[in-house]
Amino acid sequence: MNKLSRRDFNTKIAKSAGATALMSISPLACAIAAKKDKRKLGIALVGLGSYSTYQLAPALMDAEHCYLAGIVTGTPEKEKIWAGKYGIPKENIYNYDNFDDIAQNSAIDIVYVVLPNSMHADFSIRAAKAGKHVICEKPMAISVEECDAIIQACKENGVKLGVGYRLHSEPYTQEVKRIVREKTFGKINYISADAGYRSMSYPAQWRLNKELSGGGALMNMGVYSIQSVIYGTGENPISVSALEFSTRPDYFKETDETITAQFEFESGAIGNIMTSHNISTNRLFASCERGWYELDPASTYIPLAGRTSQGELNFPQESQQKLQMDDFAKHILFDQPNKAPGEMGKRDMIIVEAIYESISKGGKKIPLNFTSGYGFGG
Ligand code: NDP
Repeated sequence: MNKLSRRDFNTKIAKSAGATALMSISPLACAIAAKKDKRKLGIALVGLGSYSTYQLAPALMDAEHCYLAGIVTGTPEKEKIWAGKYGIPKENIYNYDNFDDIAQNSAIDIVYVVLPNSMHADFSIRAAKAGKHVICEKPMAISVEECDAIIQACKENGVKLGVGYRLHSEPYTQEVKRIVREKTFGKINYISADAGYRSMSYPAQWRLNKELSGGGALMNMGVYSIQSVIYGTGENPISVSALEFSTRPDYFKETDETITAQFEFESGAIGNIMTSHNISTNRLFASCERGWYELDPASTYIPLAGRTSQGELNFPQESQQKLQMDDFAKHILFDQPNKAPGEMGKRDMIIVEAIYESISKGGKKIPLNFTSGYGFGG
């Protein structure tokens, strides 16, 4: 521990996000063994914040088709901690300035962008130009224009692009898709999806900073609600109208606090979403001709739960992130379907922009014209 006492050392690393989690999870040997497995693709995580630390890195320890090969961080103290914990060699560690050198590193197959939203486009495009496959966290970017730029960069450089929509690999969500596909309960008449939490005591966080987040609850949790009403009906909406509610303007100075939006679908189904940084909720419910189905919670990464008018759903629980990253690796390795392609992230951003437009026009109905190419995910 060099010249630092253990207490000093612990205090220092506790200051960086995720340090405590790193001290308690699975052993270095696991990562080293994984590296030797030639069938596994090397992933570099960009941005070592909460999600990378507590979810993605642990999930990569168990993944079958990919492993944690590298990191990209702007916080030098994290380099040493992560290198020690996961056995990441020096040559696979980058910062935001030398990131483009990753092009020369054959150990990295996939770059996973886990940064604040406004940085997604820049790093996804740089990763594509470096010849790396890209997973970009949700929301894919902060505008449709940025989504287009990411998609184009990936196409031009011949790399695959996935959005971090982990639920497309999650069993309860798969069951919802099956119910929709097979019309188990007949025509869907109404779908509602809420996703929110109460943000209390951290006004300086990037999620409340418009420049870094691109927006508030809608950008952060609202994309889950949008996703839910789409895979929960199997249709893209044909219109949306929305309203914004602000009850704590002193806390939510720059970004939206609570938004509700109503969707129309070609089939006649009606959709309703609520998303909030002020209200805790996480639910998907659909009322159909001959019954109903519900997930509650519907989009957390603690285990989901659900039931239908026929009874409880019960599926095995596995890390959603492990399933998601393995699915993306299988898309690259074995040409299996891309469960959350860039076009899906772009579609959701079209809807996000339409919602903001509707709010700015006092709840006016905004038509949505999706043609082909906006897949629902496998
Ligand atoms: P955190 O705030 O915990 O971490 C963000 C990290 O980004 C920081 O730790 C830092 O890493 C890096 N960073 C670079 N520049 C900045 C900056 N100006 N301000 C703040 N951080 C910066 O965020 P999360 O990990 O919770 O979220 C990251 C992304 O992942 C978001 O887009 C979010 O929407 C998405 N997400 C997705 C989830 C899902 O379920 N799919 C769940 C949670 C988040 P470093 O110190 O290494 O440079």
